[in-house]
Amino acid sequence: MTEAKERLCRRIAEKEKTYSDISRKIWEYAELGFHEYRSAKLLQDTLEAEGFQVETGLAGIPTAFKGTFGTGGPVVAILGEFDALPGLSQKPGRDTQEKREETDCGHGCGHNLLGTGSLAAAVAVKAYLEESRGAGTIIYFGCPGEEKGSGKTFMAREGCFEGLDAVFCWHPWDVNGLFSSSSLADICAAFIFHGKASHASASPHLGRSALDAVELMNVGCNFLREHVIPEARIHYAITNAGGSAANVVQETASVYYEARAPRLRQSFEIFERICEVARGAAIMTGTSYKVVRGDGFSDYIPNKVLGNVLMENFREAGAPDFDTHDYALAEKIQSTFSEEIMQEAVTAVEDQHGENAAAEMEGKVLADAVFPINPLKTVMPGSTDVGDVSYQAPTGQILTACKAFGTPGHSWQEVSQSGSSIGIKGMITAAKVMGMSAIDVFQNPRIAEEAKKEFLKAVKGGYHCPIPEEIKPDL
Ligand SMILES: [Zn+2]
Repeated sequence: MTEAKERLCRRIAEKEKTYSDISRKIWEYAELGFHEYRSAKLLQDTLEAEGFQVETGLAGIPTAFKGTFGTGGPVVAILGEFDALPGLSQKPGRDTQEKREETDCGHGCGHNLLGTGSLAAAVAVKAYLEESRGAGTIIYFGCPGEEKGSGKTFMAREGCFEGLDAVFCWHPWDVNGLFSSSSLADICAAFIFHGKASHASASPHLGRSALDAVELMNVGCNFLREHVIPEARIHYAITNAGGSAANVVQETASVYYEARAPRLRQSFEIFERICEVARGAAIMTGTSYKVVRGDGFSDYIPNKVLGNVLMENFREAGAPDFDTHDYALAEKIQSTFSEEIMQEAVTAVEDQHGENAAAEMEGKVLADAVFPINPLKTVMPGSTDVGDVSYQAPTGQILTACKAFGTPGHSWQEVSQSGSSIGIKGMITAAKVMGMSAIDVFQNPRIAEEAKKEFLKAVKGGYHCPIPEEIKPDL
């Protein structure tokens, strides 16, 4: 490890208590997307105290912000999230399900760690820039509303991430490795049908049923499934069935749709066909309809150049060093998982990190190795708003072990561990790896050049935000 990187790691380790406290506070606040006022303030205050210039209210979202330090290029950004999930209240560091009295929400995706670990990296990189007296800028992006709200997509729509040379981010996980798969793009919209109310028995001929239209649209889309690419996903929820009276022809009814596919272009194509099915349903039922677009995500394009930089540093930094106390908690937590969940965890590792990695994790409680890059191209069957960032700048993302192997996302077990020393150790590791990688970008201009070359090739055609201009963040 170079001297500069050693100093960076030492700095992060020395402040572990500070970062542990910040992460714990955000864990306790457990604020939902776009309502992360106290969490955002804490992160902003810390950045300001460290000498960053803080700008708040990005993209018209009160809790979206950035902290900038330095001058000139290269410009390296690190992404932080800090929103919690509803219905996941849980006491920290427990191996049984116990709700907290103060809140109904919990950090079931470890975003208290995510936001703080990224901040730790940015602060350490700032110290490096001061010391080296070289040109370069480090930006911490406070990205709200990841769980529900597509915060980064709205930020990308305003061009927040344009022109950055490298973006690093991470996510708390149950293994250590690169987030090398892409994710699904997603287009969402509500279809609202309008018919004519009437007595369903006395004068049904005068009625035009909006509920019929919703039902026929769903039937049409269920047939459509066979004729789209197999990786696509079409989901719907009936959000208004037109009331509870069977003897009234339903005047209005609505259904909410999501069209997911490996590339944004494919999602748009499927979405267009769903719109045609809606038009057909309206014609069949003599109703009218309107489409109200909602959230959206672009697919994630992992930048291989930045991925290699991250993984070289990850190998040097090593896996989080868990102690006997961590193992004891993780073991108890893991014993609450069914055999099915554990099998699913092994399959997930195999898909993302390859056969050897899956064999390595069998029977393990906490991940103690860093998996090498798996050259297989896979698509994660979910969506993330980091995808929209990856369409505006080269982006690399790692995963670090912050929970017992097998811990499902969005579970009370994850909330418990996000508030424990297991999570903190994974968070500190992530901060070191991202910080070291930023140093590489500042020291070696070829990295940014190569990353950009790859990025421009991957996003040929540019960025088309999946959320139309008229849709505002659901604050
Ligand atoms: Zn998450």
